[in-house]
Amino acid sequence: MKLLINGERRDSVSGKVFTVRNPATGDVVGEAPLGGEDDVRHAVEAAGEAFADWSAKNPRDRAKILFFAAEEVRRRNTELGSLLTAEQGKPIREAVDEINGFANILEYYYALSAGERGEYLNLRGYGRTLVRRRPLGICGAIIPWNMPAIIMGWKIGPALTAGNTLVLKPAGTAPLTCGKLAEILEGAGLPPGVLNVVTGPGETVGREIARNPGIRKVSFTGEVGTGRQVAMDAAPALKRLTLELGGSDPMIVCDDADIPMAVEGVIRGRFYNCGQTCTAVKRLYVYESIADEFIRRLTARVEGIVVGNGMERGVTMGPLNNQAGLERVVRQVDTARERGEGEIIAGGLAPRGENYEHGFFFLPTLIAGVPHDSVLFSEEVFGPVLPIATVTGLDEALERANDSRYGLGASVWTRSADVVVRATEELEAGIVWVNQHLRTPPEVPFGGTKESGIGRENGSRALDEYTEEKSVLIRL
Ligand code: NAD
Repeated sequence: MKLLINGERRDSVSGKVFTVRNPATGDVVGEAPLGGEDDVRHAVEAAGEAFADWSAKNPRDRAKILFFAAEEVRRRNTELGSLLTAEQGKPIREAVDEINGFANILEYYYALSAGERGEYLNLRGYGRTLVRRRPLGICGAIIPWNMPAIIMGWKIGPALTAGNTLVLKPAGTAPLTCGKLAEILEGAGLPPGVLNVVTGPGETVGREIARNPGIRKVSFTGEVGTGRQVAMDAAPALKRLTLELGGSDPMIVCDDADIPMAVEGVIRGRFYNCGQTCTAVKRLYVYESIADEFIRRLTARVEGIVVGNGMERGVTMGPLNNQAGLERVVRQVDTARERGEGEIIAGGLAPRGENYEHGFFFLPTLIAGVPHDSVLFSEEVFGPVLPIATVTGLDEALERANDSRYGLGASVWTRSADVVVRATEELEAGIVWVNQHLRTPPEVPFGGTKESGIGRENGSRALDEYTEEKSVLIRL
């Protein structure tokens, strides 16, 4: 791929490239320009020049371009899904779902694009007052590798519909799908400079996006530590920030839960995308009275997960996306093992055999009887490993669930209305599910409390995050 700046496909200023490899096989999938600070500056210039015309367009005309792009994305979903699987690792079915999800998001913002949002007030003594919502200007978007297409959609959908221009940085290990999606948007009629894509390291490209004073807002998705750095880099220019950071979502399974349904909830909630989802089920609290049956059924299901290259038929879980991610999961499991923190009842290591030799594979893993102070509970486990603890009842479950620096998602599995009322009230999370987990339709605000982030993506109010109010008081 090339950088996309001002509608042109360019090499980076340095002329250097980096290689993108398939995490299942180690094969080269493609290469991307090794952008740097100067490339970001050029992109900011282009976005600045494009802003006046783009923000002056009728919102529906802007959103129509997103709508046409969505159609094209859907038409090419298998091709784009295959590219996503090749660079990211997820099974092709999940990848195609993600590509369709990107199209859904663009269509949703098209549906919201009727006109400039705002309010009209008639105030006695002050005249007619308009509270307009104006675009911010140039925005920056920094994307992780785990759900690159969806997260790109979460950022460009509201940002562009609201009339901003963008400089977007994809993740180093999965930039190619983002590049293709940007090309499709351009082909659908996005004017030059409205969406600029700069690939390269977080330390240079990412930091320049955070620091560059021409950028008025940064929307970042990634780890808590990186988010903190972005906030510090953005502080001198007092930029607006959306930070979608890590999570360690608890799932509480009560004694009246539909056990088979809850087991399926764990399978999808924890092992989808090889466990590399911000709102994956990362801590399981199950009532003592049903724990044996629940764990027995869950173990049988986990043993049926087929690990392999996501392009192969029948594979239900791919590799982790990168070496560092695999090493972190191995370190977390080994630490728990060495300290005797729970019993590994499934997985716990990398699969063996020639199919697995060149990939970042790890078996789906269950660890039961994990003590509350375990590293598996205190750190985000970004891979296919589920620590399980039993609880005596709802008081203990809620106390343990909330005892975390994270507050992204949480779920409770029960048939009791009383439990639903109390759990949805008391769980400290930006999104709480009942008898489901992980589902995040574009209509619903998404984001975290505590260290899981600042601000919300999705929903109609995401448009507010990409606009600011301008009050106009009129006396004639
Ligand atoms: P990461 O923080 O390592 O990287 C995210 C992006 O930031 C990448 O594009 C990276 O190149 C860039 N970056 C790195 N250093 C930077 C810096 N100093 N300044 C600016 N940009 C920099 O995260 P990751 O490993 O790609 O993603 C995994 C993490 O993302 C997990 O913690 C996961 O929970 C979180 N996540 C959160 C959400 C959410 O919506 N809350 C969604 C998906 C992933």
